[in-house]
Amino acid sequence: MKYFSLNDRNHISNFENAVVRGLAPDKGLYFPKKIEKLPASFFAEIHQFGKNEIAYNAIKPYVAEEIPDYDLEKIISNTLDFEFPVVNIEENISSLELYHGPTLAFKDVGARFMAGSLGHFIKKGNLGNITVLVATSGDTGGAVATGFLGVEGIDVVILYPKGKVSQIQERQLTTLGKNITALEVAGVFDDCQRMVKQAFLDSEITKIRKLTSANSINVARWLPQMFYYFLAYQQLREQDKKLVFSVPSGNFGNICAGMMAREMGLPVDRFVAANNANDTVTKFMETENYEPKPSVPTISNAMDVGDPSNFIRILNLFKNEYTEIKKVLSAYSFDDEATKRVMKEVYAENGYVLDPHGAVGYLGLQKFLKEHEGYHGTFLETAHPVKFLDSVEEAIGTRIKLPASIKNLMHKEKISLQINNYEDLKGYLMD
Ligand SMILES: *Cc1c(COP(=O)(O)O)cnc(C)c1O
Repeated sequence: MKYFSLNDRNHISNFENAVVRGLAPDKGLYFPKKIEKLPASFFAEIHQFGKNEIAYNAIKPYVAEEIPDYDLEKIISNTLDFEFPVVNIEENISSLELYHGPTLAFKDVGARFMAGSLGHFIKKGNLGNITVLVATSGDTGGAVATGFLGVEGIDVVILYPKGKVSQIQERQLTTLGKNITALEVAGVFDDCQRMVKQAFLDSEITKIRKLTSANSINVARWLPQMFYYFLAYQQLREQDKKLVFSVPSGNFGNICAGMMAREMGLPVDRFVAANNANDTVTKFMETENYEPKPSVPTISNAMDVGDPSNFIRILNLFKNEYTEIKKVLSAYSFDDEATKRVMKEVYAENGYVLDPHGAVGYLGLQKFLKEHEGYHGTFLETAHPVKFLDSVEEAIGTRIKLPASIKNLMHKEKISLQINNYEDLKGYLMD
């Protein structure tokens, strides 16, 4: 499969270069030249397939020319070695739990698939060593660190804001060792992000180190998120109602992957983009005007994005036709008060614990179902509630149990390097 840059359709790349570069040289996002339709028989017989086979069929058109079957199957089975249950919460509402992976975040899937792909290209080729440099406000860092742990030829350097990530998130970043280095930055997330961007543009660094990023703009992190929707469909196929997915959205990579799956033939009728107070897309769906703005902090902080980087991919999927997008996508925005209220309600009525991101997804679905008849809805639970312990316990008024993996993690020793400014980062990378 070839990929083109969304800034310049004449810039064409193969999968390998798209993965290694992240962004095209003109700073455009990569997009596959063709979206393959899967045969109707695949969906009719989906109950016969295992997880890995389903994922293999979904991703094959986009990578298979460049990763041989045997290796691709191995990458997929490493990526998906945990469960993706659809849990019924109440009439017409299910939760797709994406948090059973190693760092309890849905980003585990994309991070592992990207690590497997990049590791494959390094092993077979002459790329040399690569440094994955990322800034994290929380969940990305842990998933990337764990996904890339021990992958030969790759060093991972993660910048996180000191005192601004949760304790669990910090442990997930700082206790791994090996090829993972955590840099604890005296500053906020935006400072981390700024330093990372500066390093990518610093030729003194890039002369001696090959840098790449690992965020959702990378096709190897973005595309495998399709798997969730195929795996959910396998569990939902006997519903006699139309299907809708509600996706708590920040950078819109996850929901865009779901819409790709629909274009490939997955029998899903609609999608709901569930937003917190960062409502750029909600506003766009109301007014057709896309006006990015600075992000505002909320309790569902992995979605605090004012200018979602993947939204341009959704526009492209629908050839920039607003009326076409409207037929498939609805968007709603909710504030923290509504989020906390619904966490409390759903726990009281159904005994189900939502994390703040899943709660926004639930709210979006609830609103959609009020306005549309004949649907069964599924919202995506993108993080385990323990990762947002303080706001969850406060909302539901009880303590929640820590999974064993988290208890063990809290006993491990934290190792990080403190950095105060860009010169410190540069010094580390040049060393
Ligand atoms: C990253 C993240 C999101 C947002 O996903 P996007 O693909 O950026 O829209 C939602 N919930 C959680 C818990 C996340 O970590």
